[in-house]
Amino acid sequence: MKMYEKAPAKINLMLDVLHKRPDGFHEVEMIMTMVDLADRLEMSELRRDTIIISSQAGYIPLDEKNLAFQAAKLLKERYKVGQGVHIHLDKKIPVAAGLAGGSSDAAAALRGLNRLWQLGLSSEELQELGAELGSDVPFCVTGGTALATGRGEKLTPIASMPQCWVMLAKPPINVSTAEVYGKLRADRIAVHPSARLMREAVEAGDFQAVCGRLGNVLEEVTLKLHPEVQQLKQAMIRLGADGVLMSGSGPTVFGLVSKQSKVARIYNGLRGFCKEVYAVRSLT
Ligand code: ATP
Repeated sequence: MKMYEKAPAKINLMLDVLHKRPDGFHEVEMIMTMVDLADRLEMSELRRDTIIISSQAGYIPLDEKNLAFQAAKLLKERYKVGQGVHIHLDKKIPVAAGLAGGSSDAAAALRGLNRLWQLGLSSEELQELGAELGSDVPFCVTGGTALATGRGEKLTPIASMPQCWVMLAKPPINVSTAEVYGKLRADRIAVHPSARLMREAVEAGDFQAVCGRLGNVLEEVTLKLHPEVQQLKQAMIRLGADGVLMSGSGPTVFGLVSKQSKVARIYNGLRGFCKEVYAVRSLT
C-alpha cells in the first residue's frame, strides 16, 4: 500500500521575538501561512522493519538527520509499529531557505503514516508529536493561517490569508536558523511588529493592510550578515510587489502581489539576478 501527501512551504507574515527563555528557546509571536509550493511524499509499506528515505535532491540528508525519518521513527517507537516504510521525497521547496521545507516534510510524514499504519491519531495528537521534532512542525501538520506563540508550537488558527500571488526569491547563500537566533539580541530589538494588527488585517481580508504590517525582527540579523538579501528586498519593491519581507530566518524574500498582470514582470526582473525564483499562489 502507498500513501501520498503534499508538504507545502510556509511564509511568516510577521515574526517577533519577545525574549530568550531560560530553556534556551526564544519566546516568539508569528503569523504563518502556507503557499502553493510543495514537496511531495510517497510512503510505501515495507515488510522489513526499517525506515528508508530517498530523494531526487542531492543536498539533503537521507539518514536519521532527515526530519521525515525522525517523524517515522517517532511514530514507530511511540506506537510500537512493527512494519517498515520507504518515504520518497520529491523536493520542490528550496532547502535551508526559511520556508520550513524540512518541518513540512516531517508534518506530511506524520499525516501520511497515521493513515498508512491506521493509528487513528487526531490532528492535535499529531501536532503534539510534531512539537518534539521542531517548533514549526505543529503548524505544518494543519497548515492554513495561524498565530503561533510560545516557541512556535502554540497555535491559534485565524482566517485565511487574502488570495494573492506570492513571489519567492532565494539568493544562493545558506543561512543557519540557529546562527541567526544566536546573534539576535532580543533585548535590543528596535521595532516589534504587531501580531494583533496583522491578525486584524488578515481577519478583515484587507490585503493592503497585510502588506503594510509585514515585519520580521530576524531581518536585523540576516540582512547585516548577507547584504544581498536587502538588495533582493529592494529589487522586489522596485519591481512593484505590494509588500515585501524576508521569510523566517531567511534568506528567502517573498513579495505579495495582488494583480496577476504584475507577476510576469516581477518574475522576469528577479530572474535577471537571482536563479531561484517562484511565482505561486497563497493557499487558502
Ligand atoms: P525553517 O524555516 O523551519 O527554519 P528552513 O526552510 O530554513 O526551515 P529546511 O529546508 O527545513 O530549512 O532545512 C534545514 C536543514 O534541515 C537543512 O540543512 C537540511 O540538511 C535538514 N533537513 C532535514 N530533513 C530535511 C528535509 N526533509 N528536507 C530538507 N531539509 C532537511
